[in-house]
Amino acid sequence: MTRILIVEDEESYREPLVYQLTREGYDVSAAATGEEGLELFTKGGIDFVLLDLMLPGIDGTALCRRIREQSRVPIIMLTAKSAEIDKVVGLEIGADDYVTKPYSFRELLARIRAVMRRNQQVQSADQSANGDDLPLVCGDISMQVGQHQVTVRGENVFFPLKEFELLEYLLQNKGRVMTRHQLIDRIWGSDYVGDTKTLDVHVKRVRAKIEEDPSHPKYLTTVRGLGYKIDQPAA
Ligand code: CA
Repeated sequence: MTRILIVEDEESYREPLVYQLTREGYDVSAAATGEEGLELFTKGGIDFVLLDLMLPGIDGTALCRRIREQSRVPIIMLTAKSAEIDKVVGLEIGADDYVTKPYSFRELLARIRAVMRRNQQVQSADQSANGDDLPLVCGDISMQVGQHQVTVRGENVFFPLKEFELLEYLLQNKGRVMTRHQLIDRIWGSDYVGDTKTLDVHVKRVRAKIEEDPSHPKYLTTVRGLGYKIDQPAA
């Protein structure tokens, strides 16, 4: 049974969540403070963490970092205001996703399941290393990472390494906004000191290869003030 740890100081959020997740068949542990949450997590056996951002004592960002020091367990942050999302994403505290309050339980459950699925895919990809990996797919774009091959609307398209890595990282995070910082960090390394325009140049080149009309991108879109995201175009 999947064990979920909820760290949430507000009882009006915590209690219904415990009840609803238990009813969905999860084994739920709950903590009202960061300290208590860390203690429960350290005892072991937790498969998933729902972590409130604003907590008394050790707050959500600090706790998230502490958990990341010891584990790759999936973490979803719960934030009170959408303004805090920038903070969560920007700080790169290592959370897998975030949900803004007030959220509907259905929405949260869908996010939990999506993060779990993604995590299992990453794990099995890690395990089967250079075996017959499943392609990363987004609409008409398909990437076979092991073979360094990209197919766009049925045609093989060549991608130089950095462009390939950029597309790979975006596809791995399909539907999620990746900040400029995250992308630069991942593709060029955290010690990268070059021009930040480099990212935009690469995005432009990738668009030229995957978009039908690169000046009106439908797959690789700009999320103003945050970064970029790849997603299936609306039908
Ligand atoms: Ca709170």
